[in-house]
Amino acid sequence: MTTSLDALTTDLLARLGVGDPFDADGTLVARTPVDGSELGRLVEHTAQDVADVVGRSHATFLQWRTVPAPVRGQVVREMGELLREHKEDLGRLVSIEAGKILSEGLGEVQEMIDVCDLAVGLSRQLHGLTIASERPGHRMMEQWHPLGVVGIISAFNFPVAVWSWNSALALVCGDPVVWKPSEKTVLTALACQAIAAEAARRAGAPEGLVQVLVGGREVGEALADDPRVPLVSATGSTRMGKQIAPRVAARLGRSLLELGGNNAAVVAPSADLDLAVRGIVFSAVGTAGQRCTSLRRLIVHESVRSELVERLAKAYGTLAIGSPLEERTLVGPLIDASAREAFEAAIAQAQADGGTLVTGGGVAPVKGGGQYVEPAILDMPAQTDVVRTETFAPILYVLGYETLDEAVALHNDVAQGLSSAIFTSDVREAETFVSVTGSDCGIANVNIGTSGAEIGGAFGGEKETGGGRESGSDSWRAYMRRATNTINYSTELPLAQGVEFV
Ligand code: NAD
Repeated sequence: MTTSLDALTTDLLARLGVGDPFDADGTLVARTPVDGSELGRLVEHTAQDVADVVGRSHATFLQWRTVPAPVRGQVVREMGELLREHKEDLGRLVSIEAGKILSEGLGEVQEMIDVCDLAVGLSRQLHGLTIASERPGHRMMEQWHPLGVVGIISAFNFPVAVWSWNSALALVCGDPVVWKPSEKTVLTALACQAIAAEAARRAGAPEGLVQVLVGGREVGEALADDPRVPLVSATGSTRMGKQIAPRVAARLGRSLLELGGNNAAVVAPSADLDLAVRGIVFSAVGTAGQRCTSLRRLIVHESVRSELVERLAKAYGTLAIGSPLEERTLVGPLIDASAREAFEAAIAQAQADGGTLVTGGGVAPVKGGGQYVEPAILDMPAQTDVVRTETFAPILYVLGYETLDEAVALHNDVAQGLSSAIFTSDVREAETFVSVTGSDCGIANVNIGTSGAEIGGAFGGEKETGGGRESGSDSWRAYMRRATNTINYSTELPLAQGVEFV
């Protein structure tokens, strides 16, 4: 299996335009979670390399910011076209490197294509306001200007889509990007860099609009500390966000944080349980529970609790666990052994807290290596600390409720605030859940699960999820700076607020 994955990876990298990225003396080991084997070694960037790359990116910025936005959009249009051409190859590489099943690997690339389409349209819509002035013969307006080099730090679990959310918008906004991907998913990042370089070549844009840094935390810190990077967009754990945010703030830079979630769904007595079961299983088990939006807590009305748990256990029993490269597989591997250890430790703690293991929880019997586990459901007597903690694995904790107020209180009683859902056929309950007194998350859904967002909406969360917004709606504003202009077209010089002066 090792040899064939090696060969498949080399072949995919070549088709995606990446030369041989490996160096036997490199200190970063690229692995596949499919069987845990080594794919090759890469040389890591030093702090000096980071400074050099940012310097080049800043020089590119000075040129790129003067290119009209609709013309900048042409690079992103080419990127979208190349992604369409290479969807199969890049999707497969995502499956090999991040371990997600083929359909989700392809879905991730489709998300990149979608955000490119959005950004191309946006390149003709980067609009400011015209504002009424209190002074005669005056006009006020806002302009949005390119910001500068955007630093992107990303997590392993969406190795390419998160980069595209940031870079498609940043590029049309006039900003080159310097990207430090997760050290666990460098190969897919190199493939994206190659695609972006080819897109720039086809569009006649400058080189170096997208540059990748190889390395771990130190490389990310050097990027976060560089004063020539006005915006650091960081996706990953809350722990990482708490380390990066003060560093960027110390130099009064901006950070856009997309951090951990602890997402819940409320299931009301009127819920369509057939639909709820499908939505819950996809959200809780998809990507083996390794999405920031994965469903981790189920808050079920006591009147339907036992029936729902029984139906979920039955559905879990049918899930095919195995290599993500096999068509029938629905649950692929965890990223590495420490993720499996965290899965086991959380289940043991939940049981110690009085939880009942309804199904799963063990290591799955998959041949050939890799960290495969059986998705778990734990029926909990209360929301204990382990339930309030994001464990990046397929564990679903079930909690009961009697009144909607109680459900919302339980729902909001966690530090994170990313995604949420309610399953109900009662319009009052649905509206209450998405109202100001309902879910405190950045995403609140009705009758769909917590994961699988579309790119048209702003994506992100509150509280310890970090408050950042990416992707659709007006998220583009984070990648630009605003200038307010007051234009006097009269022959007088009246002062605002009626102030008299010579
Ligand atoms: P992680 O925090 O371990 O690493 C994320 C990235 O941050 C990596 O590139 C890593 O090298 C870098 N990093 C870590 N510490 C750093 C530091 N001090 N300075 C600079 N860079 C640093 O996260 P992970 O295990 O790769 O991903 C899983 C986590 O990401 C989960 O918590 C998940 O919820 C979160 N996530 C959030 C979103 C979102 O949009 N909210 C999306 C995907 C993943």
